[in-house]
Amino acid sequence: MAERIYTIPVNEVFKERDGCPICKMRDILEERSLEYILGAAMMEPDVRIETNKKGFCKDHFFMMTNRRKRLPLALIMETHLDEIAKDIKHKKLRPDKKEIKSGDVSRKSCFVCERIDWAMQRMYATIAKLYSEEMDFREDFRAQQCICLEHYRELFAFCAPKVSSRWRGDFEKDTETLSLNFVKSIREEVHYFSRMFDYNNSGENADFKNSKDSIERAIWYLTSRLPK
Ligand SMILES: [Zn+2]
Ligand SMILES: [Zn+2]
Repeated sequence: MAERIYTIPVNEVFKERDGCPICKMRDILEERSLEYILGAAMMEPDVRIETNKKGFCKDHFFMMTNRRKRLPLALIMETHLDEIAKDIKHKKLRPDKKEIKSGDVSRKSCFVCERIDWAMQRMYATIAKLYSEEMDFREDFRAQQCICLEHYRELFAFCAPKVSSRWRGDFEKDTETLSLNFVKSIREEVHYFSRMFDYNNSGENADFKNSKDSIERAIWYLTSRLPK
């Protein structure tokens, strides 16, 4: 699979000042992956073998159905369903003991998720390197608007351990501040929104300010996805 699909100029993403930079990277990788699967990858038997085996999660199936590329999707689906039928026949899709014990037997296999996760690990390594070595990057990092909760956790898990010990404390503090400041401000907006339902605040001239979509933005912060 073409490597370049999964290469993102990390520096440039951090030059922007709105939203969560990690969400932006994830969105770029996701967009390119879906484009590729329903386009050029149709001609690559290796990729088809993999998508037949792994399939896709609900989110990525839905994103593909929204793209109106019905024929490529039908072709991918047809051979994936063949594979599923074969696996059921050979008892390969029965939950194993470990899954049953954990209480979670949902099938998590997704070609797109796997590719994104793989590329994100490389992005986290790059972020750690840039933060450890470049003052400009540290300033760009600090100037971000927000780190959403999911990516706050991922930064601590996959990036912080790779930051040089000289800068790790600062990195962790910056990540925490960016996430905490946002959660406080969105909490205030949700509060403002709920206060607008008071009798005293109702009426034609009720000024909701920017709070009308505060619930959606809070969901985005908590899940890294805006409800659609
Ligand atoms: Zn995010
Ligand atoms: Zn997925």
